[in-house]
Amino acid sequence: MKFQPKASHFINGEYVEDTNGAPIDVIYPATGEVIARLHSATPEIVNQALNSAKSAQAEWAAMSGTERGRVLRRAADIMRERNHDLSVLETHDTGKPLQETLVADATSGADALEYFGGLAASLTGEHIPLGGGDFVYTIREALGVCVGIGAWNYPTQIACWKGAPALACGNTMIFKPSETTPLSALKVAEILVEAGAPKGVYNVVQGYGDVGASLVTDPRVAKVSLTGSVPTGRKVYAAAAADMKHVTMELGGKSPMIVFDDADIENAVSGAILGNFYSSGQVCSNGTRVFVQKGIKEQFLARLSQRLATAKIGDPLDEEVNFGPMVSKNQMNIALGYIEKGKAEGARLVYGGERIDGDGFYMQPTVFADVTDDMTIAREEIFGPVMSVLDFDTEEEVMARANDTEFGLAAGVFTKDVMRAHRIVAGFEAGTCYINTYNLAPVEAPFGGSKMSGVGRENSKLAINHFSEMKTVYVSMNDVEAPY
Ligand code: NAD
Repeated sequence: MKFQPKASHFINGEYVEDTNGAPIDVIYPATGEVIARLHSATPEIVNQALNSAKSAQAEWAAMSGTERGRVLRRAADIMRERNHDLSVLETHDTGKPLQETLVADATSGADALEYFGGLAASLTGEHIPLGGGDFVYTIREALGVCVGIGAWNYPTQIACWKGAPALACGNTMIFKPSETTPLSALKVAEILVEAGAPKGVYNVVQGYGDVGASLVTDPRVAKVSLTGSVPTGRKVYAAAAADMKHVTMELGGKSPMIVFDDADIENAVSGAILGNFYSSGQVCSNGTRVFVQKGIKEQFLARLSQRLATAKIGDPLDEEVNFGPMVSKNQMNIALGYIEKGKAEGARLVYGGERIDGDGFYMQPTVFADVTDDMTIAREEIFGPVMSVLDFDTEEEVMARANDTEFGLAAGVFTKDVMRAHRIVAGFEAGTCYINTYNLAPVEAPFGGSKMSGVGRENSKLAINHFSEMKTVYVSMNDVEAPY
């Protein structure tokens, strides 16, 4: 098997195996070939990982922020040096084209390690002067053992977006990758050890949902950060709430992208392409409800179809290819099922709509026009390359329709009218908004969702608040006055 790791799990600085766990076959989505066989963690493995993270935590937190930061920044450098190999692995794990993985996966993970490595030394509390010479100081403390649970679309990135801020704050982590894409998180763990992370600081255990669930409910765990769907988020949030654990929830979306008739059409089409078809549409923040003002609708659709016809669909290892297979047969079938629903409910198929023959899980980028707000394809997250184009007349109307969803992950607007752009963004019920662009997520900026799309934020200085807590220390410089 081409990409068989040394063992399934990475605990206490080493690869660990337990073949009693249920098998996890890793399938290369471009060919359907099994490239590795791993095993889901048994309760013994989960226990070993928890013990390892628990016993490493105090020592890691006691190191200076500068020392912890140095480890993370070294890991970032190693990831960048190995970007090509890591990208080839990520392409095999996910099916995403190498053209994408070379610039959006290990590099994005390295950005997070570098950014939070840089912040680690500056994580402090504050001094708060009070009357009569009394004062308070606050101490920023690590939470303890953090659990990260990942989705399958950006495995390396998710492993680092959770691990880097957690470790910067002095926590240790157990990361459970998605069972669909288990390989690259092991590389992140290896690299962190190579960069000097003490044993047990970053552990990886494989498994299905039950392994995730057993981590969430363990009393040794202080915090859970999940990237996944809303139904899983509901379960994980509820389980964590029983013990008042901290949570970050990065969940699904059905985000609106609004194109006004004064927009630069080429840019709007580019935004719609990036926001619907990058990673074959398997991006949580995708702007899958594209509201186009009636005056430019046909022009927009014509240009979109012309440009989609130039997409290079094929072998994801060919760097010319920019549209790869879906991550799994199951995910492809889900997306194809939505296409059937779109047709049955009366949407007009203007591009694609078909599976592409072969062993790989390929389907065409697909565009529906004349979609109405009540259609299933306009309401539910598809997580595949299916764009819905909806018409609108006025700003007021489109604002209300854009927000009429349980989700609130992202939202975008294309217009040359600056005042309108800011007005629209102020009205969006979404955590991450875009003006005249779409789907960028630099580590310097907070990323996350409102409403059912999530709780908390990843990236930026805000992530620090989600991986640490403040201890308040009141210091009296006076005698204690008691009433009797
Ligand atoms: P999923 O919800 O099926 O699984 C996510 C992870 O949760 C997996 O590792 C899975 O094993 C684990 N899991 C499942 N049940 C669990 C339980 N009861 N307790 C603990 N863990 C459990 O999601 P997916 O299909 O892997 O990923 C796609 C979803 O992720 C989409 O909805 C997408 O929008 C979302 N997503 C969100 C973001 C974001 O940043 N907001 C990013 C990427 C993906």
